[in-house]
Amino acid sequence: MDGVNPLYIQVHARDNVGIVVNPEGLEAGAVFPSGLILRERTPQSHKVALAAIEAGEPVVRYGEVIGRASRAIAPGSWVREDSIDLPVAPALNELPLATAVPAPPEPLEGYTFDGFRNADGSVGTRNILGIGTTVQCVAPTVEYAARRIREELLPRFPNVDDVVAITHTYGCGVAIDAPGAVVPVQTLKHISLHANTGGAPLVVSLGCEKLQPARLLPGLALQRVGAAALPVLSSDPYVVKLQDEDFRGFQQIVAAILRAAERRLEELNRRRRVPCPASELNVGLQCGGSDAFSGVTCNPAVGYAADLLVRAGATVMFSEVTEVRDAVHLLTPRAVNEDVGRALIREMRWYDEYLARGSADRSANPTPGNKRGGLSNVVEKALGSVAKAGTTALRHVATHGEKVSVKGLVFAATPASDFICGTQQLASMNLHVFTTGEGSPYGLALVPVIKVSSRTALAERWPDLIDIDAGTVATGRETIADVGWRMFHLMLDVASGRKRTWTEQWGLHNALAPFNPGPVT
Ligand code: CA
Repeated sequence: MDGVNPLYIQVHARDNVGIVVNPEGLEAGAVFPSGLILRERTPQSHKVALAAIEAGEPVVRYGEVIGRASRAIAPGSWVREDSIDLPVAPALNELPLATAVPAPPEPLEGYTFDGFRNADGSVGTRNILGIGTTVQCVAPTVEYAARRIREELLPRFPNVDDVVAITHTYGCGVAIDAPGAVVPVQTLKHISLHANTGGAPLVVSLGCEKLQPARLLPGLALQRVGAAALPVLSSDPYVVKLQDEDFRGFQQIVAAILRAAERRLEELNRRRRVPCPASELNVGLQCGGSDAFSGVTCNPAVGYAADLLVRAGATVMFSEVTEVRDAVHLLTPRAVNEDVGRALIREMRWYDEYLARGSADRSANPTPGNKRGGLSNVVEKALGSVAKAGTTALRHVATHGEKVSVKGLVFAATPASDFICGTQQLASMNLHVFTTGEGSPYGLALVPVIKVSSRTALAERWPDLIDIDAGTVATGRETIADVGWRMFHLMLDVASGRKRTWTEQWGLHNALAPFNPGPVT
């Protein structure tokens, strides 16, 4: 063990476990500065018992009980998943509501970014031609057309960043009138009108699908694009219907999409970035591939940046119901009023019932990678996950599929699945922050995704995928505040287009995955 200084992180004074910091892990016999001697080899980011824990006694991390010891644990032992019994989730009918509402934070003034102002009041961080779709059947056609547009048309419109086929797996073969259908339909509607696409949509439909264009975009005057000349120029949506009797063959269909796209590109190319207050940011926060460091490095740093955004008047959304469920007792007291607290409980209860219908429960959450990274169960994962929410009052709870416009800290209910959560947050956000411990090359086509690593080892292994290394918090090279400020400034630079994220650089775009709690037919 020459040259190795054994270190663990204890988050809270009450904790009876700490996590190993050393990148290679530590061998039996390693002596920590506290005098604690490690009894067995323990990998990095895994837990070591700081004191004797008798069978049935609580295992405490973050100052909270993450479970009870399934057997006696001696000091210096590796505390594995099977040494901890999963406790029952906090009961939803006896939670304190709005009992510890944080005072409004000191306003943070003077921070701006250069964004694209839209007619509907929203602000874009990118200038993208988005081609919406009503149904999966048209996806390959639209992807073919998008490739042609990118090659043949886009070079003439230098102010437009990209062309994106907004394809998905929804739209037909579903019970479209079932209550659950509202979620994917609303999500896809908001994405079709996304702030980064300038608000004047171009939508491609098949014709016979359940999700008709008028159902996707209700209340808007749809303009049919056939084989002949385009309809008059307006901001109403253009709709190309593949089964339109006007068309003779695939090439005529593609030509119609290209004609409509060219008109939209002319409009988008006239957009210019203008200084906008940081309050126009709507930032979606998410974690994926978390490890035991996530809750002490990247997620608290994101939480610090979230507080800065809230102080600047912006919207910050955190999500992932199953990763909030076991920390809900820490959040309901922070609800700005009892109604918001009750709304949070409503979303937790809905998801409990949803999981129960599928004969699953919250223990289905941690992945093998989470466990390899030292996260023993969903309670420990949740306590680390909610650190992203910072310290301000919870101002609003949005249900699945709702578009979020409230300023301040918002819980937007979504599943924890990265691509489903990202798709739902995309309905509202113009910037995305994604933390990871195990590593994920996740990216979205319509918004920039800033990737934050929990460990320096990951940032060094993936220097061209990770935008910010928060592992410096574990080694003491930076404080949580240092990383939080660095992240805040990077957000303004990325939102302004002055910097591109690594996933933008490589064009890594995960497929949209709308959450469909309704039946498939
Ligand atoms: Ca996730």
